[in-house]
Amino acid sequence: MIPTFSEALYELCGFARVACDAALVMALEVDDAGRATPVASSPPHHFTGFNLDRSGVFDTGWSHLPLAADSFRLPTAVVHALPDRPASLLFVPAPVDHAPKSGLLLFWTTIPPTAPLIQHVPLLASSVANTLMTRREAARQMAMRDQFNDLLDSVPSGIVLFDGDGQSAVINQRAADLLAAMPGPHRARDLAAPMRALRARCDNHAALDTAYAAHVGNVNYAVSMHWIVGERTYEVDTHPVSGDGQHGRIWLFTDVTAELQLSARLRGLADSDSLTGLSNRRYFEQRSAQIITAAQGDGRGIAILMVDVDHFKQINDTYGHPVGDEVLKAVAARCQEALREHDLIARFGGEEFVVLLATSGNDEAGMVAERLRQAIARVPIAVGDVDITVSVSIGAATRDALDGNDRNVLQMLVARADSALYDAKRDGRNCVRISPGT
Ligand code: GH3
Ligand code: MG
Ligand code: MG
Repeated sequence: MIPTFSEALYELCGFARVACDAALVMALEVDDAGRATPVASSPPHHFTGFNLDRSGVFDTGWSHLPLAADSFRLPTAVVHALPDRPASLLFVPAPVDHAPKSGLLLFWTTIPPTAPLIQHVPLLASSVANTLMTRREAARQMAMRDQFNDLLDSVPSGIVLFDGDGQSAVINQRAADLLAAMPGPHRARDLAAPMRALRARCDNHAALDTAYAAHVGNVNYAVSMHWIVGERTYEVDTHPVSGDGQHGRIWLFTDVTAELQLSARLRGLADSDSLTGLSNRRYFEQRSAQIITAAQGDGRGIAILMVDVDHFKQINDTYGHPVGDEVLKAVAARCQEALREHDLIARFGGEEFVVLLATSGNDEAGMVAERLRQAIARVPIAVGDVDITVSVSIGAATRDALDGNDRNVLQMLVARADSALYDAKRDGRNCVRISPGT
């Protein structure tokens, strides 16, 4: 897993074996409970871990000289790895912080060598200890890097992280999918083009370009923008991240499409009437204020139409309330169809509807009202098997060329349209009456 440091330990074991003609040399990482992890050996051999506490190795005062093997209880795996019965062994302690009982274990199957041959072996102890320590640190860093990568991929956002040195960057799987790049480390400059390409693909790229251009040269900028890529919208958050006093930068891409759709749906529900699907009165009042302001801005007029179903009580009484509901839905749909897209219609309450038109004079309101009236009266409304003749009366009120001083214009127009509606009812219903004043 960590070739460099393991290789160094293999070399050290090999050196010790050749130097003193041993049959087997092992480098062991041993914790204070005696759990030994064989890290390298010469000859190379794969050992699984074992416990060395029971062997007697740690109860012995080692004086750099081999001792007879039969005074130790050696792990079977070790004995089996030897070409013959072990005759003697030597332990050279190489303690490290995390594994204080670590060291080199040497075995001979023949007559133990003489002191001059092995006197250099203890000198290897500090190298073994150093290598074990460095190896452990490298393993820790690798584990941290793995953990970091796991973390990067567990975040439900695309992440592009630029190092403070401006040279390197790392991206996670989600960012890789977005940028059509490989996940993992990159040279920072290799990510510039894919990032630009993604932004260029956004429906709102012109607005994004302008917004980001405002921050050119500011290393501390932090911005959150919506990047609209076809069907999907990403909330793209970028801010500096400091490390080693240098300013790196992170880009987080979070897909917010579902949330936006949900909130739009909720907003739609809050704004609409549940029976007819038209806007409700609350939304009408809010939206009409915006339309009026816009009309004041370009000097246009507005008109209000109050539309009320004639003798609706009779329809309920004759066919029942559920059929009445169907009639209301059909009236709403016909009105909607007869209007232009920019006209605003809402269910004002009961069997009464209100329409706001931005007008440009020429009795536009009267014509639209007449179109609505006919759209309802021309053909009976079919509910199940019955055809129900329905008509509406309409009162209209207009105000030409609004100026900025027109306050409460909506209430005033509604009141006048209401009174015109009253006239229409009085004049026999199924007709349009227009309020005289302006
Ligand atoms: P006019 O021609 O004078 O407007 O007579 P009308 O019968 O239409 O007027 P009125 O105000 O007397 O009655 C309106 C009726 O509309 C009374 C009410 O029960 C009914 N209504 C109000 N909201 C609903 C609804 O959501 N569904 C149904 N089916 N009926 C409703
Ligand atoms: Mg009515
Ligand atoms: Mg009514």
